[in-house]
Amino acid sequence: MAAPKVAVVGAGLIGLSTALCITETCPSCSVTVLSDQFSPNTTSDVAAGILIPHTYPDTPIHVQKQWFKETFSHLFAISNSAEASEAGIHLVSGWQIFKNTPKQQLPFWSDVVLGFRPMSEAELQKFPQHRFGQAFTTLKCDCPPYLLWLEKRLKASGVQIYARKVADLWELHGEYNIVVNCAGIGAHQLVGDKKLFPIRGQVLKVQAPWVKNFIREGDGLTYIYPGIDSVTLGGTREKDNWSLSPDPGTTQDIFDRCCSLEPSLRGAQVVKVKVGLRPSRQCVRLQREVLSQGGVKLPVVHNYGHGSGGFSVHRGTAKDAAHLVGECIAALQGSSSRAKL
Ligand code: FAD
Repeated sequence: MAAPKVAVVGAGLIGLSTALCITETCPSCSVTVLSDQFSPNTTSDVAAGILIPHTYPDTPIHVQKQWFKETFSHLFAISNSAEASEAGIHLVSGWQIFKNTPKQQLPFWSDVVLGFRPMSEAELQKFPQHRFGQAFTTLKCDCPPYLLWLEKRLKASGVQIYARKVADLWELHGEYNIVVNCAGIGAHQLVGDKKLFPIRGQVLKVQAPWVKNFIREGDGLTYIYPGIDSVTLGGTREKDNWSLSPDPGTTQDIFDRCCSLEPSLRGAQVVKVKVGLRPSRQCVRLQREVLSQGGVKLPVVHNYGHGSGGFSVHRGTAKDAAHLVGECIAALQGSSSRAKL
C-alpha cells in the first residue's frame, strides 16, 4: 500500500497536537489538517491553558492520570528548552483555595504537578474567607502562541494545512484513507453526537504584570492565571449555552470575584473579553469507527470532547489517537495484502 493519506479535521489544540503525534508515530503517512477556523478563532484560543485536570466521570482515573502525566512531562521538557518562549509555555506557582476543607485533599494529579502540599497558615492569611488550600507549581500554555508553534512544527514536518468546512466525514472518502475527527464542539453537528454539549465560558484578559501567582477557587469557578503577556480572569460554566457573545454583566461579576481574591487587580486594565464553548461529554471520545457505504469503508478515529480540561490532557490523548491511527493502517495493510493473494 502507498503512503497512507490521513486527514485530521480541526485546527484547535486537539487537532494540531494529534496531527503532530501522527507524524511522529507514523512517519510514512501523508498528513493533512482541514479546518474551518484557525487560531486565533478557536475555543482553544479562549482558554487559560493551565494544566490542572478536570475529571471526566466516565473515564477511568488511571487513564486520565496517564494522559495528564504524558502532557505534563512533554510540556515540562518544552518549558525547559530554548523553545519555551515561542511555544508560550511556562511554569507557574500558586494556590487552589477552599472555603471548606474538601473530602478529597489529595487529587489524583497531586504527584504529577511539582511540590504539591497543603498551604501553611501564613499563606492562608492572604485569603481570609478560605479555610484550606493547596500550593503547587504547574505549567501554563499561552494561546495563540502555542497553537502557532504547533502549526509551525507541522508545516516543518511536511503536513498540509487547508481551510475547509467538512459537512460530512464521508465526503473525505476517496481523497484520504483515514480520517481523524478533532472537531471539538463542531462534532455535535459533524457526527451528530448528542452526548456532546457546550459549557460556555467567559474570561477576561487583563494587564496586571505584578500578579505572578495563580489563584483558583477549589470549585474552579473563579480563577486568576498569569500568562506571559496578560493575566486571565475567569470564569463561568454555563451548560448548554451556545452564545458566543460576551455578557457585560458577567464581565463585571468575574472582575469583582477575582478582585475579592486578589484586591490589587482593582488597578488592572481589561484588554479583552473572550467567550468559548467547552466541548463537553462524560468522557473524551477516543475511539476507532469504520464508516461504510455500499461495501466501501472509511476508517475514522475520533478524538474530541475534552470539555474543561483539554490543555491538561491533550498530548496524552493525541498519542492515544495516533496509536489508533497506527491500528487503522495495520488493518488497511492487512486487507490490501489479502486482496493481492
Ligand atoms: P477547538 O479549539 O474548538 O478546535 C476545534 C476545531 O475544529 C476548530 O479549528 C474548528 O474550526 C474545527 N471544526 C469544527 N467543526 C468543523 C467542521 N465541520 N469542518 C472543519 N473544521 C471543523 N482546558 C485546560 O486544560 N485548562 C484551562 O485552563 C482551560 N481553560 C478554559 C477556559 C475557557 C473559558 C474555555 C472555553 C475552555 C478552557 N479549557 C481549558 C478547555 C479547552 O480550551 C478545551 O478542552 C480545548 O480547547 C478543546 O480543543 P479542541 O481542539 O477540541 O476544540
